[in-house]
Amino acid sequence: MFKSVWVLGHFRGIRLEIHVSWLIIFALIMVSMTTGLQQQHPDWTTADAALTAFVTVLIFFASILAHELGHSLVAIRRGVPVTAITLFIFGGMAQMSRDPEQANDEFWIAVAGPAVSFALAFLFGVLAWVTAGWYEPIPVALGWLSMINLVVAIFNLIPGFPLDGGRVLRALVWKVTGSTQRGNETAIASGRFLAYGLFGLSLWNMLVMGNLVGGLWIMLIAWFLLTMNHAQSRMYLLRDRLAGVRARDLADPDVPFVAAGQSIEEWLRDQVLVSGRRAFLVGSPTHVLGLVSLSDTQRLPQEQWPRTPVSEIMTPADALHHVAPDDKADDILQLMNEHSLNQVPVMARGHASGWIDRQRLLRMIELHLEVKR
Ligand SMILES: [Zn+2]
Repeated sequence: MFKSVWVLGHFRGIRLEIHVSWLIIFALIMVSMTTGLQQQHPDWTTADAALTAFVTVLIFFASILAHELGHSLVAIRRGVPVTAITLFIFGGMAQMSRDPEQANDEFWIAVAGPAVSFALAFLFGVLAWVTAGWYEPIPVALGWLSMINLVVAIFNLIPGFPLDGGRVLRALVWKVTGSTQRGNETAIASGRFLAYGLFGLSLWNMLVMGNLVGGLWIMLIAWFLLTMNHAQSRMYLLRDRLAGVRARDLADPDVPFVAAGQSIEEWLRDQVLVSGRRAFLVGSPTHVLGLVSLSDTQRLPQEQWPRTPVSEIMTPADALHHVAPDDKADDILQLMNEHSLNQVPVMARGHASGWIDRQRLLRMIELHLEVKR
């Protein structure tokens, strides 16, 4: 099967990965940098220029990774889990499993990335100065790295969501007004403004300056920012509307159970086909042993179903994801998405009191959105 990301490794529990689109930007920068170096340094051989470009571009991507690690490490220290950092065509992205709960956290997480880039710009600048007069490709590469990190830091600080500057803006408005919603609205508006500005800039590049490739590139970035911005604004809306909704409000109090000793065949015939439910808890409300779902039956050939108890194919209780009655709706949504769960029991002190499956969750969320309108 074709994989769209490659995992480079793990750092402090964060998965570091490269998306396939990254190869495009890698190749683009490689080629343009090699030609640029050859024009500026006619005495360099093609191999000199290509090798310098190759090493420089790799260090540049390591710098982007460092920028994202800056965000991530501060996030983790402030209690916001980071699952992965992905390098892709437009740079890097740290995937946090939820938004920060405090304006201060949002602010420090957002500025940490550009701070790393500024520090790298300074470091490479000093190194370029120290190595001046050495084998020429070295100071040239270091100078370029200093400049590009400065550009990354400054570009990301432009106040337009989802750029870091947009997050800083969100944190500031949130802090000053005390309203998350006001912060979100300002950030989203700033992002839209930035994206449309970039669309304008791209048209100006293509139509007035005759710079077709550069203009198209800016348009792609604008389109990407607009898409991200739109997705985020929908999520904020959902969160606002779901703010007070808990697991107990969403759960179905009718929890389906099957006895541990029941054979798979009996369970399918007497319970699954009769009730239309795809998953059951194994055991009793006060003694939950596990969860068995229709997909678990695939692990055994059909001729063994009459003789095998459901307890043999279930997910045992200690490996089972569950939620508490007080858990928030968006945390449940997050949990189910993160682990691709189709259903999750609501448990309080070892006692199963409710049941949430994907269809029910979506239906209930829709209801809550509509009723609160
Ligand atoms: Zn950043």
